[in-house]
Amino acid sequence: GYGTLSIASILAETARRFPERTALYFLGRPTTYGELWDRTRAYAGALAARGIGPGSRVAMIVPNVPDFPRVYYAALALGAVVVPVHLLFRADEIEFVLRDAEADVVVAAAPMLAEAAPAAARAGVPLLTVLMPEDAARQAGVARLEDEAAAATPIERHVGVNPLAAATILYTSGTTGTPKGAVGSHLAMVEQVHCSLIDSFDLRPDDVVYGGLPFFHSFGQMAVLNMAFRRGASIVLLPKFDPDEALELLVTHGATVFTAVPTNFAGMVEAARRTAARPPLRYAVSGGAALPVALLEAFEEAFGAQVHEGYGLTETSPSCTFNVTSEPIRPGTVGRSMWGVDVAVAVAEVEDRVELLPPPAPGEAGELGEIVVRGHNLMKGYLGRPDASAAAVVDGWFRTGDLGTVDADGIVTVVDRKKDMIIRNGYNVYPTEVEAVLARYPGVALAAVFGVPDEVRGQEVHAALVPSDGADVDPDAVIAWMKEHVAAYKYPRVVHVSDELPLGPSGKVLKRELSARYAASAG
Ligand code: ATP
Repeated sequence: GYGTLSIASILAETARRFPERTALYFLGRPTTYGELWDRTRAYAGALAARGIGPGSRVAMIVPNVPDFPRVYYAALALGAVVVPVHLLFRADEIEFVLRDAEADVVVAAAPMLAEAAPAAARAGVPLLTVLMPEDAARQAGVARLEDEAAAATPIERHVGVNPLAAATILYTSGTTGTPKGAVGSHLAMVEQVHCSLIDSFDLRPDDVVYGGLPFFHSFGQMAVLNMAFRRGASIVLLPKFDPDEALELLVTHGATVFTAVPTNFAGMVEAARRTAARPPLRYAVSGGAALPVALLEAFEEAFGAQVHEGYGLTETSPSCTFNVTSEPIRPGTVGRSMWGVDVAVAVAEVEDRVELLPPPAPGEAGELGEIVVRGHNLMKGYLGRPDASAAAVVDGWFRTGDLGTVDADGIVTVVDRKKDMIIRNGYNVYPTEVEAVLARYPGVALAAVFGVPDEVRGQEVHAALVPSDGADVDPDAVIAWMKEHVAAYKYPRVVHVSDELPLGPSGKVLKRELSARYAASAG
């Protein structure tokens, strides 16, 4: 038989050792680890009564509320594979995931039911709901997990699993085609948590961690949920990011760690202009997209806490590199590779094999290439897609699709996604670099640079800006200023000033949506 190393052990063990510690704060109320594990065991009992066991697939569409960890660890405790679904997916997309993952059951929170119920019916997958009042559930004809848990016998303990068995299937959002399910093993996830806690993060049991990054996404699931729970720290849940609400919540609960994506950092800097109250942050962690140095500095200035940037992908569980908390940070870089993970650069144009670039000589920056990653953090593959898996992982190296450099000291810099690079008049423009300069323009809260098809130049460089509160940003003045600060081929020729930018559920700017929006408006 196998031992107890499983993602479920993260909650089970912490609950056994520290039942009285606070695991979660939600709507002002604390939940202890003991209470959370009891509830989880009850949910697992209900799922087991429906025949869920080792290898079953449990899809879930639940925001960051206490039911997310309950359902997640309940499924894992039975040895089942969890399939957390993107919260913004519509019925057709949910149906696709339920069929592709061959889900045995789907648990959907009440607000997601309008999309989840038709999807489940069409895919022929049994549906359970959480957070729905009894009457409403009866009317809708949906079974409540809470009721089934009350009728079932809670499980005693989590089952032993093969550490290499699948634990999660995380769907890439599909902005570049059909979503693919990245299959992660228990070992990859647990290793990721342990390596991060030992080498990268100074996370302590008395920390209070911001829990607004969506847990269905790899970043929030690993860097917030599993890491905080492994340490026995507390998480402050926030189902939907609003900067003023987030700041108030962090102050109320005395949050010490803020882990988020760059657009959240921009929102917090703006919120900090409107109120003097500050949480007692020890440090912050940024990932998921490039953090402009100007924004890193503005956050540090407003909150008095250092920001540590890291880099990763769903396919790599997700962390690959980090500016560790025990060393001085290198702003503008994503730090060095984490323990047991190799990060290198390969010739970007070669499609069918990985041709590594020569390592730089001492003191040198390193050549630009495609970032490739090898190590214990790699996914098992894309579910049911041997061709896509074989194209993504070559000789053990995962091709990230990102361009970057690794210097002689092993410090990694992400230049941009290959897909986001703009080619204007034959010149390569890297939007991230232009955004980092734009972020320095007075009165700019958030900036995104993207290409728009252009008959003459192939693509034209556009920028979309969100001004700070009350700032009056003149597009022509921005263009003139940018002309002074970057080379002629890369400054934005068109600047759009807007109240907000289109964001995905994890808070990343949707560049393709911006391109499409302004391509359409350009005629
Ligand atoms: P999709 O699901 O559409 O593929 P996605 O590409 O955003 O969405 P994720 O796995 O969420 O998929 O994110 C991984 C990507 O995020 C990386 O490939 C990289 O482009 C970007 N990224 C992550 N961290 C950083 C960082 N620190 N700097 C720059 N880019 C980053």
